[in-house]
Amino acid sequence: MLHKIISHTLPYFPPQLIWRFSKSYIAGETTRDAINASKALNRENIMVTLDILGKFVKTMPQAAENRDAYLALIRTIEAAGIDGNCSLKPTMFGLMIDKKTCFEYMRELTAEAASHGNFVRIDMEDSPCVDGAIDIFRRLKQEFPRNIGLVLQAYLKRTLSDLESMLDLRRDDAALNFRLVKGIYVEPAAIAYKDYHEINAHFLEDLEFMFKNNVYAAIATHDTPLIQGALALIDKYQVPKDKYEFQMLYGVTPKKRRELVQNGHRMRVYVPFGEEWFGYSTRRLKENPAMVKHIIKALFSK
Ligand code: FAD
Repeated sequence: MLHKIISHTLPYFPPQLIWRFSKSYIAGETTRDAINASKALNRENIMVTLDILGKFVKTMPQAAENRDAYLALIRTIEAAGIDGNCSLKPTMFGLMIDKKTCFEYMRELTAEAASHGNFVRIDMEDSPCVDGAIDIFRRLKQEFPRNIGLVLQAYLKRTLSDLESMLDLRRDDAALNFRLVKGIYVEPAAIAYKDYHEINAHFLEDLEFMFKNNVYAAIATHDTPLIQGALALIDKYQVPKDKYEFQMLYGVTPKKRRELVQNGHRMRVYVPFGEEWFGYSTRRLKENPAMVKHIIKALFSK
């Protein structure tokens, strides 16, 4: 009940309070903050993927601004010698306003990353965006086979068949590359699994399918049983270390992340940054009311 009240009133919370909660999950407001955080992670033998926190895009000029910000970021990653890439949310480039221009903007970003031998990943947003994201991925994968990846959400009932339907994009010299996540959005039960155990079972089923079909897997979770399940599959299929990586969010479960790195697994951290941290934090808190407990803690701790 308290969680519900707090999550409804979150947008009215003082930014200082939200910041106290957010600062450990966000690298900072500027590109320099993100580059510094990335360098520190690289020193720990951890790769990064950078995400610019953006406002909800309502017009295509805003989408063009986002395209320009990411173009600059891709060049900065290269100039600073960061071992990392970018994650792109299609709605930031206007997916729900003008699909054709959104594709063009995301194509420009992929071409820029490819020109440096780098990579971009398309994040997966809520269910109305899934077909659009897959369509953009399909087209870019054909043009830039080694430079583009996609996210798939284990909670969506369609995911295994989406995986099957994309196998035709495999090439001997350029594997398919998917980040597998549970999924963060609140989706209707008609299209998404709701139960923790059911979601985990499907996560591992999707991952097994990926290993059986030589798909590069980015295993993005902090959930210990899932990490153990993934390690068991890696062992079962004798998956070489360069055919998968683990991924975690900035500031979340650093101990688990260190253990995996110490055991020789590749690790990448998702590093969000930008001036729009307030909207990002309140959105994430609303999407995942369980995390409101962190806010309550912040209220009472010094
Ligand atoms: P959970 O069962 O949610 O969490 C397991 C444990 O991890 C928790 O008990 C807690 O101890 C810890 N934990 C998890 N999250 C947090 C947190 N934020 N703060 C503190 N502790 C936490 N979702 C999408 O829908 N689309 C995407 O494109 C996407 N990209 C992602 C990229 C990365 C690298 C990661 C790690 C996640 C991404 N997600 C994305 C979010 C994902 O869908 C899950 O919502 C999120 O990872 C939490 O699920 P979990 O697997 O960690 O398991």
